[in-house]
Amino acid sequence: ASSQESLMSLSSDEGQGGSDLDNINVVVRVRPLASHEVGKKDIQAVQFPGEGQIMVDDQINGHSRVYTFNVVFEPEASQEDVFEFSGLKRLVDMALDGFACTVLAYGQTGAGKTYTLTGPQGEGAGISHEPGVINLAFSYLYEGIKQRKSEDFVIHASYLEIYNEHVLDLLNPSPKHLPVRWSKDKGFYAENLFAVECEDEGDLQGVLEEGKKNRQVRSHNMNEHSSRSHTLLVLTLTAETRDLDDPHTFIRRQGKLSLVDLAGSEKTKKTNSKGETLVEANNINKSLLVLGNCISALADPRKRSGHIPYRDSCLTKLLAESLGGGGMALMIACVSPSRTNAPETISTLRYASRAKRIKTKPIVRMD
Ligand code: ADP
Repeated sequence: ASSQESLMSLSSDEGQGGSDLDNINVVVRVRPLASHEVGKKDIQAVQFPGEGQIMVDDQINGHSRVYTFNVVFEPEASQEDVFEFSGLKRLVDMALDGFACTVLAYGQTGAGKTYTLTGPQGEGAGISHEPGVINLAFSYLYEGIKQRKSEDFVIHASYLEIYNEHVLDLLNPSPKHLPVRWSKDKGFYAENLFAVECEDEGDLQGVLEEGKKNRQVRSHNMNEHSSRSHTLLVLTLTAETRDLDDPHTFIRRQGKLSLVDLAGSEKTKKTNSKGETLVEANNINKSLLVLGNCISALADPRKRSGHIPYRDSCLTKLLAESLGGGGMALMIACVSPSRTNAPETISTLRYASRAKRIKTKPIVRMD
């Protein structure tokens, strides 16, 4: 076996990128035990019995259950491994081809969502050090553009946060909530959201850093703000090519890549859930529940053409275009390996198991 195979396991029947019908990939990333967990002699409750499999020791129900996903990344897997083998490259390629694609990082607070997406946080955590899959995707995106010589691309980035069902612009320090509106052309959108044109990778990194900075300032003095909010970094990729049959006509194609760091999925402890906190907890749990309902309805061919409950939360409204038939989605379910967290790990794996197949169609606009 190669060294890659020892770090992760691929499910043999579903493969890395999936077939045309396999439009949601669900991968699991298990973070290493943290030093404080090792110090407390917390032990690892997860094992990797086979390809694409993860087994969790369920102490509450007194048995171990095996869950199967497209890929399971073991604690030793690097950021590059996750980028390379999660199917994320294919999502970037598809977004360049005019599809709307979504990456969702799901899991309890502390399971590694932010680390996986944007690398380690805090003092000394420079972007060159263990860059996250979003940073790696930025480089890959501009490489892809360079190779597509016959098309002109314009990239815009917007970055927002949903906190307690309110939308805040992370690229605008104003504390004003943005209303979510609907129009025939645009679908659901956050009104007055900044969209910054990014000419190169450096511009995109700048947008990411600016947004993170504004989020930090905002979350100052607000207990657990960052674990209770969802962040959406949305890249709009507009390509123009001359129509080969009629050189005066341009064909415009717009793809989208939504990179979503979801709020912590943990159940809030009842003792902490009073007043304002209770409202927040309900809204967070509700939006994750609605997201799960939308994804499983989209994944089920019998329900796909019926009612998808996007309208039930801000998060799903803003992701409606990306999830509903545009392109491909990748859920990265992040889990802790420790026994203490096993009940939350099981609940994350159950949630992730509900996500299956979504059908695609490209967005093509003619001018
Ligand atoms: P979340 O965003 O899910 O709340 P974080 O990404 O903040 O969790 O991760 C919690 C802590 O664990 C951070 O200190 C982070 O640097 C560390 N961590 C998470 N995943 C990994 C990993 N794969 N390798 C090393 N450290 C990790």
